[in-house]
Amino acid sequence: MRKFAVFLLMLLSLPGLSACGNANRSDLPVTEIDTPESKTEQEESPLPTDSDNNNIEVTSEMTTIQVIINGQEFEAELNDNEAARQFMEMLPMQLDMEDLHNNEKYFYFSDVFDTADEELKEIHAGDLLIYDSKCLVLFYENCETTYQYTTLGKISDTAGLKEALGTGTATISFQTENITDTAQTSASDISFNFDTKTVTLNSGYEMPIYGIGTYSLLNEECVNSVQTALENGVRLIDTAYMYHNEESVGEAVRNSGIPREEIFVITKLYPDQFANAEAAIDEALEKLDMEYVDLMLLHHPGSNDVDAYHAMETAVSEGKIRSIGLSNWYIEELEEFLPQVTITPALIQNEIHPYYQENDVIPYIQSLGIVVQGWYPLGGRGHTAELLGNEVISGIAASHGKSSAQVILRWNLQKGVVVIPGSSNPDHIKENTEIFDFELTEEEMDLINALDRNEKHDWY
Ligand code: NAP
Repeated sequence: MRKFAVFLLMLLSLPGLSACGNANRSDLPVTEIDTPESKTEQEESPLPTDSDNNNIEVTSEMTTIQVIINGQEFEAELNDNEAARQFMEMLPMQLDMEDLHNNEKYFYFSDVFDTADEELKEIHAGDLLIYDSKCLVLFYENCETTYQYTTLGKISDTAGLKEALGTGTATISFQTENITDTAQTSASDISFNFDTKTVTLNSGYEMPIYGIGTYSLLNEECVNSVQTALENGVRLIDTAYMYHNEESVGEAVRNSGIPREEIFVITKLYPDQFANAEAAIDEALEKLDMEYVDLMLLHHPGSNDVDAYHAMETAVSEGKIRSIGLSNWYIEELEEFLPQVTITPALIQNEIHPYYQENDVIPYIQSLGIVVQGWYPLGGRGHTAELLGNEVISGIAASHGKSSAQVILRWNLQKGVVVIPGSSNPDHIKENTEIFDFELTEEEMDLINALDRNEKHDWY
C-alpha cells in the first residue's frame, strides 16, 4: 500500500556529545573532524567552489526542497554531493533543532554522512551544512568561522528566516518538492477507485474505502469480528485507545496470517493523552504489537491538540506512523488548526449518516485534498432501526435486491465518504462488504440526500 518510501534513519539527538552544542566550539581543533572518508569522497565528487570568497559551493545540478518552520515555507537548494543525496533520501522528516550562539540551529544524527569538509571561512544566513559528519546546522546569521563543514545547500530567500526560527529550539520540517507535488495531485484527486476499492491519501498511501469499525467490541468478540471481516476481504480496521481493544485488533491481524502491509490499521489518541502524545503513540504501537500504524487520528479537539499533532508529525518522520489525521473536526476547528501544523491531515473521520449528512463539511474537507470517513454510518447503536427501517431507504434497497445497510454504505461511497460500519454479527460483516455490485442512480442519491435532519447521534 506504500506509494513512496518514508526513510527511517534513526534520528537521535545527542546534545551532550555535540561539538555544535558546545558553546566553545573554537576549542576543538579542526583536524579532529578531517576524516579520511571525507577526503576520499571529496576526490570522487569534486564540488565546484568559488575559491575567491570561499563561499558556499554552487553546482549546476541543484535540487529544491522545502523547509517549513512554524508554518512558514522556505525553499532550499541542495548541492549535488553525496551528503546532500543522503539527506534527500531521509526526507520527509521533522527535527527539533536546538539553538547555538544565537546564529544557528543544529541537530545531531546517529548516523554519519559521507562528508567532504572544507574550511568555509564565511558563513551566510540560510546555509545548510553538516558539521563533524553527523550534525545538521542551519545558520540564520552571517558569521566567520575557522571550522570545517560539508555544504548541503542553502535557503535561497532568507527574508523572515530568523524570525520564523525564534530564539530557542525550533521544529523544522524538510520535505522534497516531489512530496508536495504528490500532495497537490492528491488534493485534486482523492476520488475513489471502485475497481481496487481504494483511495490514495495525500500522504501517498493507498487506503481501502470500506472497513470495519470496532467501537464497543471487546476482547474475544473484537478478535472474532475483525477476523471475520478479514476473512471476507476487509482490509481496513478502525480502532482507538478509547475503545480498549487495540490489543485485540493486533491479535486478529496476526491470527489472520495476512501480511501486515496488506492491512490498513487506524487508531486514535484520546484528548487525555495529548499532553504526553509521544508516549501515547508508543503505547498504541505496543498494544497493537505493530511496528507502525497506517493512520493515527486525534480523536477529538482538546487541550494540547496541536502539540499532540506535532508529536504525530515527528512519529511520521520516525516511521512509527504512515499517515495522520483528525476526528470530529469541523470547518471552524479546521480553519483554526490547519495553519498551526505542517503535515496536512490525510483523513478526517466525522459522524455521517443519512440523518446527519454534513453536506457543508464534506465538500470543504475534500476540497483540501483530505479524505472523509464517516462514523456511525448506520446511525450508531440504538439508532440503526430508524435508519434501516426508513421507507425511502428500504424502498431503494428492495429495488436493487440489497439491504438498507448496503444502500446506506453505498450512498456514502458514492459521496466519496469511506465507511467503517461496526458489527459483531458475521452475517452483517459479510453483508457490509457486498456493496460493489450495484450503483445508486442520481435520483436515488438525491432521495437519500433529502433525508438529512441535521440530527446528531452523539455529542461530539
Ligand atoms: P454503526 O456502524 O453506525 O452501527 C453499528 C450497529 O449497526 C451495530 O449495532 C450493528 O449490529 C449494526 N449493524 C452493522 N451492520 C449491520 C447490517 N448489515 N444490518 C443490520 N445491522 C447492522 O455504529 P458504530 O459501530 O458505532 O460506528 C462505526 C465505527 O465508527 C465504530 O465502530 C468506530 O470504529 C467508529 N466511530 C468513531 C467515532 C469517533 O469519534 N471518531 C465515534 C463513533 C464511532 P450487529 O453487531 O448486530 O451487526
